[in-house]
Amino acid sequence: MKRWIALASDVARSNLMAHRLPFKLTMAVNYTCNCRCPMCSIWERTSEGEMSLAEVERFFRRNGRWSWINLTGGEILMKKGAPELIDLVLRHNRRLFLLDFPTTAFAPDRLLELVNRALQGGVRRLGVTVSLDGPPALHDRLRGVPGLFAKAMESMKRLRDLDERRLIAKFGFTLQEANCDQLEATITAVRKEIPETTASDFHLNAAQVSPHYYGNAEGGERGIWGKEGGSESWADVVGGHLGRLEGRGPVSVLERLFLKGLVDYLHTGRSPVTCSSLGSSVFVDPFWNVYPCVSWDRPLGNLKEADFDLASLMRRRIVRDAREEIVKRECPDCWTACEAYPSLLGHGLGSAGLALKRGANETCDK
Ligand code: SF4
Ligand code: SF4
Repeated sequence: MKRWIALASDVARSNLMAHRLPFKLTMAVNYTCNCRCPMCSIWERTSEGEMSLAEVERFFRRNGRWSWINLTGGEILMKKGAPELIDLVLRHNRRLFLLDFPTTAFAPDRLLELVNRALQGGVRRLGVTVSLDGPPALHDRLRGVPGLFAKAMESMKRLRDLDERRLIAKFGFTLQEANCDQLEATITAVRKEIPETTASDFHLNAAQVSPHYYGNAEGGERGIWGKEGGSESWADVVGGHLGRLEGRGPVSVLERLFLKGLVDYLHTGRSPVTCSSLGSSVFVDPFWNVYPCVSWDRPLGNLKEADFDLASLMRRRIVRDAREEIVKRECPDCWTACEAYPSLLGHGLGSAGLALKRGANETCDK
């Protein structure tokens, strides 16, 4: 209960935009990956100079008040010392409410080791998103790894077998041109392996353009990767999925609001609520470069050069300018889960819901 209160108070403070530290950290721990997804060239980058465990510890010693930490990559299961990294996160972030990470789950044993480490370390809530972009043949082709669908199934079964209430394990379906008519076939394929699976076990995101993260700047328009022209057919897929979701808890409400926003975004190319990046959330890459988010190639400084003092980096003029540009929608104005969730929380679920109801062209600006 204490950490729920801490999260609520962090969200309220970020609403006031009093230039306190954001409550959510998105941290790319590596850019190593054995997949070859068409919308991503992360795997082509060098891993030389990526964050070490000693640096991670220094960072969290100085900045250990996060309520929500999202560890991304690359593929976290390929990060050397990933279990120890989880230990460091939990040891130094006593207010942490939610730790989450996406994975291709290509190595079920490694995944289970990470999950058990987090559970034994006392994590309050752990979110694991297992990527799944289609039925077996399509998923393996899109990710470029034969047998990956089978590994995802094995991993999800083993996560479910843990029967752990602190663990939220879902599939992550990245909508793209190659699979936009394959969501139902994917759910059907999963049910053959895990019969109790429902649409609610699938989280949807649209493939996004991101020059500094995915390295796919040339791949699309209006922030959507691989899409030229309207995205109405994708919006129909998301709208259909939205209508099938079950559950009434806070996570389900947030997911519905995100998907409603995604439908609006796919129709209009505009984010349905003003983004709260740099107020609620911030992105750090594996080389300690700080950005507002995974979508906007707007470097704000390097934490290693700043002795890992994020608080003073966040007080720099360049950060204030970037925040003002976000409010004026002079950033790419995207709608991606990493920042949409904190934005929805930052706006308050009620007011965000109203804004989404009114339409994508109205905002709930402060
Ligand atoms: S999208 Fe993720 S899984 Fe695919 S290549 Fe990029 S980092 Fe790897
Ligand atoms: S709207 Fe998108 S591009 Fe702009 S700051 Fe937010 S997450 Fe980044």
